[in-house]
Amino acid sequence: MVVERKNFRRFTYAEYVEYLKPFRTNVKFSQVHVHGTWKPTIADYRRATDKMKIIQAMWRFHAITQNWGDIAQHATIDPDGYIWEGRSLLIAPASAVGFNNSDNDGIHPFMFEMIGNFDVGAEKLEGAQLATAVKLTSHIAKEWKLPEAQIKFHREMNAGKTCPGSSVNKASFLELVRDWRDVDMNAVDANKIISTWLSPAWFAAASKAERDEIHRLANELRKASGQL
Ligand SMILES: [Zn+2]
Repeated sequence: MVVERKNFRRFTYAEYVEYLKPFRTNVKFSQVHVHGTWKPTIADYRRATDKMKIIQAMWRFHAITQNWGDIAQHATIDPDGYIWEGRSLLIAPASAVGFNNSDNDGIHPFMFEMIGNFDVGAEKLEGAQLATAVKLTSHIAKEWKLPEAQIKFHREMNAGKTCPGSSVNKASFLELVRDWRDVDMNAVDANKIISTWLSPAWFAAASKAERDEIHRLANELRKASGQL
């Protein structure tokens, strides 16, 4: 029986980090593979009233038309920076011929797609979507102890492709991945800053605007440390 439809969960970056935790002992990611969908485009995604249908259309194309067994990627980053689940993380991806490590030995690359056409002159990888792509790449590389050389753009594995898009510069992307890792903050430090400095400042604030700003900064610290 052919499955006509599959549902996919949508995560915030912080939720996805939680979701990844149990997999640290179940799977060994050997590389991070970075792709852009080219199609669907960001414009296609913006037009869709039911965003799930965009993910399901990819699944249908990969699983049924291409006969790859499932959607190709482990995760899909949408233009708003959310992460949609893809195929099981325990299964090798359909990323690039000769690079999938598909022998079911529990060791394979982690593959993600970013929705958009990122070729020069088309759409731009920016804002929340770029932030999630950088943070996710950095997180996988850190947790699975991968050196930078194991972060691969699709075009490095297939010379006929521009993927993730000719406007996405590899060196600039890696620089962001590196810098993000440096500002990675743990919850204990974030909460110490909040209770030792921000809370007294909040009570001492002269106006509501000042209190709102302190509140905003505290939430930024909670976000940076994965608490929100
Ligand atoms: Zn690709």
